[in-house]
Amino acid sequence: MEHYNLVVIGSGPAGRRAAIQAAKLGKSVLVVENRLRLGGVSVHTGTIPSKTLRETVLNLSGWRERGFYGLAYRVKKDIEGKDLGARLRMTLDYEIEVLEHQFARNGVRTFGGMARFTDANHITVIDHAGDDHAFSFDFAVIAVGTAPYRPANIPFNDHSVLDSDSLVTEPRVPRSLTVVGAGVIGMEYATIFSALDVPVTLIEPKENYLDFIDREIIEEFTHDLRKRGMTIRLGAKVDRVELDEQGWAIAILTDGRRVRSDMLLYAAGRVGATANLGLDACGVVPDDRGRLKVDPATFQTQIPNIYAAGDVIGFPSLASTSMEQGRIAALHAFGAAMPPAPQFFPYGIYAVPEISTIGLTEQQVRAAGTPYECGVARFRETSRGHIMGLQSGMMKMIFALDTRKLLGVHIVGEGATELIHIGQAVLNLGGTLDYFVENTFNYPTLAEAYKIAALDAWNRMPRTTPIAPLAE
Ligand SMILES: Cc1cc2nc3c(=O)[nH]c(=O)nc-3n(C[C@H](O)[C@H](O)[C@H](O)COP(=O)(O)OP(=O)(O)OC[C@H]3O[C@@H](n4cnc5c(N)ncnc54)[C@H](O)[C@@H]3O)c2cc1C
Repeated sequence: MEHYNLVVIGSGPAGRRAAIQAAKLGKSVLVVENRLRLGGVSVHTGTIPSKTLRETVLNLSGWRERGFYGLAYRVKKDIEGKDLGARLRMTLDYEIEVLEHQFARNGVRTFGGMARFTDANHITVIDHAGDDHAFSFDFAVIAVGTAPYRPANIPFNDHSVLDSDSLVTEPRVPRSLTVVGAGVIGMEYATIFSALDVPVTLIEPKENYLDFIDREIIEEFTHDLRKRGMTIRLGAKVDRVELDEQGWAIAILTDGRRVRSDMLLYAAGRVGATANLGLDACGVVPDDRGRLKVDPATFQTQIPNIYAAGDVIGFPSLASTSMEQGRIAALHAFGAAMPPAPQFFPYGIYAVPEISTIGLTEQQVRAAGTPYECGVARFRETSRGHIMGLQSGMMKMIFALDTRKLLGVHIVGEGATELIHIGQAVLNLGGTLDYFVENTFNYPTLAEAYKIAALDAWNRMPRTTPIAPLAE
C-alpha cells in the first residue's frame, strides 16, 4: 500500500493550495480528484466559467461602450450559446494546464477517482474504471467542496430548468430567464443575462438580499438593476416549478403568482459534497447540509490529523479564502510557522455591475457603537469615469472619528473587485483617512475615487491639522 504524508481529497482551490504548500515543505502528497480533469468546482462550473461567461458577455454585447454609443450598441449582433461556450472551453483548458504543470513541478501526485475513508489513516479510491486502490496517510485535507442543492419540487432537466453546474455545461442564451435565489451566484447570472438584454425575473424568499453587504451599496445596485428593467421579487417563495407544453418553466409562488420563462436557474443553496466520503469510518461528523466543522485557526476537524478547508466548511465559500485555508491547514499539519492571519479579507461579487467590499459595513459600525464618518465618491466624479462613459458606480469609505482609522470600503461599479485591494492594504495595515488625502494617485484613474471619498469624509471630520487639503 502506498503511504503519503498528506492525502488531499479534491483539487479545487483549497486542495490545490494545501497540496502545493505541503510539497514545498518537502512532504509526499497525493491529490485525489473524482472528476476526469483537475481543478474542482472552481475551474469546471464555478469561479472560472462564470467569470469567463461574464467577460464574454460584456465584450460581445459592447456593454462597457453603451454609455457613449447608446443602449442599442453591440459588438456582435445575435449573440448565441456557442459564442459563450467557445471562450469558456479555451479558458478552462488553459487553467487546467497551469494546474497540472504546478502539481508536476512540485512533485505532487494526482489520482483520478472517488475517495472514501476506511479509517482515520486510510482511504480507498475507486478509479474511473471501477477498480479499488488503498492508500495510507499521516494527515488528510478534505477539500471536496459543495454541489448545487436540488430539491425534489424542482424538475431539473438541464435545458429549461437548471442549476449553476448545468448552466455552464452547454451555455445558451434564453428568451427569458427566472432566477430563484438572490445569493451571490443567482445575482451574478441574473445580471450577466440581463446585460444581454434577456428579460430577467429574480425571486428571493427574504425581504432583502446580500445582507452582508453595506445597505447603501445594495440600494445603488438595486436602482441600477431596476433601471435596466430587471424584475426583482423579494419576499416571494417558490412553491414548485412546472413545465408547460412548450417546455418553458413556470415558477408557481406560494402566494399563487406564476412566473413563466424560457429558462429557470435554481440557485438557492449548495450542500457539502461529503455524502460518499465514508466519514463514519474516520469519525468526522458532518452537519445536516453535509458541511464540516473545523477549528477556525487551524482547520482541524474533530479528528486531529484530518483537516477540512474550502467550501465544505461553509462561509465565506470563496475560491480566494479556500486557497488560504488550504495553505494554513498544510502549514499547521507539518508544524510550520504560520504568520497571523490578516483581520479582513475582500469579498467580490461579479455581478454586472461588480460589488466589492472589505471591513465593516455602516450597519456593523453603528451596531458596535463606534463613532464614525462616511465619505462617498461617484465614479462619474472622476475623469477616468468620464473617459469610460460610466453612468453609475460609487465608493463608500467609513472612518473612525476618534482614531481616523479606515474601518471599511464598499464599492459598486466598474473595476470594484480590483479597486478594493487599495482599501484592503490600508485597512489591514491600520491606515487612516490621511493616507488617502496625502498621497498622489495616478490620474486619470478610477482609484482617484479613494481620494474623493476620503476628502468627502474629511469635510465632516474633526480637524487635527491646521493644513487643509485642497478642495476637490
Ligand atoms: C457559479 C459560481 C461562481 C463562483 N464565483 C466565484 C468568484 O467569482 N470568486 C470566488 O472567490 N469564488 C467563487 N465561487 C466559489 C468557488 O468556486 C469556491 O469557493 C471554490 O471552488 C471552493 O473550492 P474548494 O477547494 O472547496 O473545492 P471545489 O472547487 O468545490 O472542488 C472540490 C473538488 O473535489 C471533488 N470531490 C468531491 N468529492 C470527492 C471525493 N470523494 N473524491 C475525490 N474528489 C472529490 C469534486 O468533484 C470537486 O472537483 C463561485 C462558485 C460558483 C458555484
